[in-house]
Amino acid sequence: MERIERTPLHELARQRWDVLVIGGGITGAGIFREAASLGLHTLLVEAHDFASGTSSHSGKLIHGGLHYLSRFQMRLARESVRERDVLLREDPGLVEPLDFILPVAAGDWKHSCVHTVGLGLYHVMGGRPPATQHVERQALEQIAPGLHDHYRTALRYREGQTDDARLTLRVIAAGRSDRGVARNYTRVCGLVRDRHGQVSGAELHDVLTGDVVALAARHVVNATGPWSDGVRSGLGRSPRQRIVGGSHLVFPHHRLPVTNGVVAYHGESGLPLYIVPWQGVTLVGTTHRDLGEEARWPCLATDEEVVYLLDGVRLLFPGLDLDTCDIQATYAGYRPIIDTRTTDPARASRDYGVWLEDGLITVTGGKLTTHRSVARQVIRMISGRNPHWNGVRPAKPARCMHASGETNAELSGSERRRLAGQYGPEAVRSILAMSDAGRHLEPALPRTTLAEIRWSARTESVEHLDDLLSRRLRLALLLPRGGQEHLGSIEPIVRQELGWDTTRWQQEVERYLAGWAKQYAVPTHAVSGAN
Ligand code: FAD
Repeated sequence: MERIERTPLHELARQRWDVLVIGGGITGAGIFREAASLGLHTLLVEAHDFASGTSSHSGKLIHGGLHYLSRFQMRLARESVRERDVLLREDPGLVEPLDFILPVAAGDWKHSCVHTVGLGLYHVMGGRPPATQHVERQALEQIAPGLHDHYRTALRYREGQTDDARLTLRVIAAGRSDRGVARNYTRVCGLVRDRHGQVSGAELHDVLTGDVVALAARHVVNATGPWSDGVRSGLGRSPRQRIVGGSHLVFPHHRLPVTNGVVAYHGESGLPLYIVPWQGVTLVGTTHRDLGEEARWPCLATDEEVVYLLDGVRLLFPGLDLDTCDIQATYAGYRPIIDTRTTDPARASRDYGVWLEDGLITVTGGKLTTHRSVARQVIRMISGRNPHWNGVRPAKPARCMHASGETNAELSGSERRRLAGQYGPEAVRSILAMSDAGRHLEPALPRTTLAEIRWSARTESVEHLDDLLSRRLRLALLLPRGGQEHLGSIEPIVRQELGWDTTRWQQEVERYLAGWAKQYAVPTHAVSGAN
């Protein structure tokens, strides 16, 4: 498989595009794939790296959103449950089932009854009989060692889990395989309007070369998530979004060794706290920090959020003696939420909206889980503006992501499934054919082989080291200090694949480590505050 070369901007500007999608998070990726699969000439542009916004900083759940039920958001819950089940079915290896437990304190009949009824309804929405599993204390000790002993029992239910950045990259890859063009480090710096004032294209800035061009497109879709009001302001439109930041802590799994997801209420705020095993680490989230209309780049976890999450998990797991020095990394993202003037940011609806203003289609809100529904709604809007269309063709049948045909006997079934899910069947064959296919970067990280690093550097539009380590391999979250100790093993592969000399490698390492310290390390005040 060859490296995908960046087509120069002026060549793209010579073409007339059916659809220009602005924003390479999961929302833009979903629209890109859907439009390309319908045969529309589609271009996606992303100002930074693909998935570098909220779509690599989520809770990584493909979930129905049990708590939507408590807010009577039935349509959203039903849609999320349906989408979760479709993704679990269609994307094995990329979206996997994960059991959750809801611990119930001794004598807390109220929560026990509410959750039993809620989970029953939840099962019915997913087309299953309302059977909720009860977990006794003895089993709880295996699932969540160190959990406070006032939790005597728990209820168990099933959701899905993914790697958010890899999901976005896979969806973009699917759009590319349908002849869509996706370009990272390409910022929209202005909208182009026709003589009727309708948006008919955009000005693009190549962040790597400094080139600027104007490009024409019949439909322009603003899928810039938390930044969508910024693009709309080019039309003189007032903001419609409310930005709510959310943070997570990352612990090495051995310090918080849960085997299922755990959802419990934070002792101070009463809001849900998620403790989730993910790729060999444990994630703890989340927070709801109201930022008004401001979404600075990048989103950072604050000292207060770190302390809040750490306090919450300590109260739940007093037996583990967790401290700030146990936190391996932190991360934060902005929720693009439609402003419904709710006072409490935690209760603001996670629904999505699509609207048309002067020819610009803006989509905002939503979740990873519902990206396909959002994309279909945008396509319906596009088809509504084209009376000559025969309506929207149904989305292509599920893309089979199972690898088939290769015969590497050393690969376990689950590993084969993971590779196929994350990179696609074609990629699996190429990865397995590489000489370093069986060599792992780090024994504690059984998932990352040197061949995957090579394949990713070669074919996945890596422009900076950060793109590779933070979003394609996830080392920024999975290894202490962002995997600093492993850079020596990664260097020869990356330099060979990307043609970087020693000076460029050094610059990239400095850039990556400085970025990691800013975006993923524990904020220094949180460390000193706790000591
Ligand atoms: P983004 O991913 O932010 O993408 C927008 C992109 O637009 C960015 O990459 C940005 O660089 C780009 N951009 C901005 N301006 C320009 C421009 N001028 N030109 C070109 N590009 C531009 N959902 C779930 O389903 N499950 C979860 O467990 C979950 N947990 C979450 C936890 C937290 C803390 C948060 C914050 C969100 C969570 N979500 C979850 C929601 C989900 O992550 C988001 O809804 C989703 O990632 C938003 O994707 P997006 O593409 O709309 O935005």
